[in-house]
Amino acid sequence: MRFELLLVVTAVISITAKPQSKAAQRNKLLLISFDGFRWDYDQDVDTPNLDQLVLDGVKAKYITPPMLTMTSPSHFTTITGRWVEDHEVVHNMMFDTKTNLKVPHKKTLTRSEWWDNGPLPLWITAQNQGLKTASFFFPGGGANYSGQAVNRVLLEDFNHPDDNETEWRENIDKVMSWFSEEDFHLVTLYYGEPDNVGHAKGPDHPDRKKIIMQIDRTIGYLREAIVRHQLTDTLNVIITSDHGMTTVKKRPQVDEIILNKYLNLLKLASFEILDYGGFGILTPRPGKEQEVFDALSKAPNLTVWKKEEFPESFHLAKSKRLPPIVVVADLGFNLNSRFIVYVNKGDHGYHSGEMDMKTIFRAFGPDFKKNFISDPFDSIHIYPLMCKLLQIEPAPHNGSLSATENLLNGGPQMTCLPVSLLLVLLLLRFTLL
Ligand SMILES: [Zn+2]
Repeated sequence: MRFELLLVVTAVISITAKPQSKAAQRNKLLLISFDGFRWDYDQDVDTPNLDQLVLDGVKAKYITPPMLTMTSPSHFTTITGRWVEDHEVVHNMMFDTKTNLKVPHKKTLTRSEWWDNGPLPLWITAQNQGLKTASFFFPGGGANYSGQAVNRVLLEDFNHPDDNETEWRENIDKVMSWFSEEDFHLVTLYYGEPDNVGHAKGPDHPDRKKIIMQIDRTIGYLREAIVRHQLTDTLNVIITSDHGMTTVKKRPQVDEIILNKYLNLLKLASFEILDYGGFGILTPRPGKEQEVFDALSKAPNLTVWKKEEFPESFHLAKSKRLPPIVVVADLGFNLNSRFIVYVNKGDHGYHSGEMDMKTIFRAFGPDFKKNFISDPFDSIHIYPLMCKLLQIEPAPHNGSLSATENLLNGGPQMTCLPVSLLLVLLLLRFTLL
């Protein structure tokens, strides 16, 4: 009788038990970012490979990037899981409001003093836990963090072409060999499209559709390469981006914003980065803060913020680097300082709540569910998901695994140990009888 009771108890335990922390194999992770891939770019183009990914993996309807919706700040939030006010990479350009230094985006990519502000990116945290990592053109990968470099880093040349399909495939081949021949655990791979075409031609131009088809073919190539390198069962892949894109509104459709019409910039501001898409930053001269704020508040089609009065949801107010005034234009309006010199037909940098600023999230591999569409989430939650996939202890971060872990296989299930215990007990019962 006692044995039978034990059997019942064991059976109950085996049904209710949480999954054993059986030393699951650590799979590898490839994070790919296609810069400026708006969430709906695949909906008006034939994209057989992206469509297949929906069946073979997971898709979020869209994801929301952090404010400000721009390349370096957003990528660094993805790779650190920190809001922009914490990681302090507040702009694509490195700047100093005191010296008026301004360094263009590509030149900032190796400037550790711009990137290294305390929060550690995933590469470094993973390396400190014994993993091997690489950054292939990914923003932030070229800097040192507390003196530590990423194990392997490739940086784009200043004149690197963004749209060379042959090179895109070569880059995938390189990354695959890093995984299969050199046992890298984490590689982050960056492509400068469709951002480039989106800016130059606008999101509605046929060339944008063409580049999405090129991206789709590249994803097909990636999937073949994974099979060729026998990584199907050991490599997880996340495909995402940093922000969306919207059509820039021009005359005569709208009255374009020229800020100098509302205030004398030279007299009232000691530092400014304007003429940079959908938002601008400026430092008023001493004692002129209210005057600048009031003048800008009168300008139509934009919202002016004092840094300390930012909405909580921006997660920017704590930043020491951001100047005291940030101006965000209404969707599609560009901020011009004195003249309209801006030639872009598409742009970003607008409020992250605008649908045109939302971006993509796709994933597949051994640890991801199949044929699963998830609710939208903030891109900051990708970080804890990546740590979970790599089985590493995350650094302090602002993300939440509960927002993304439903993408993964798992959940309560029968486990192996109690079942085998059951068999042993059954055997024991027969022996004793
Ligand atoms: Zn851009």
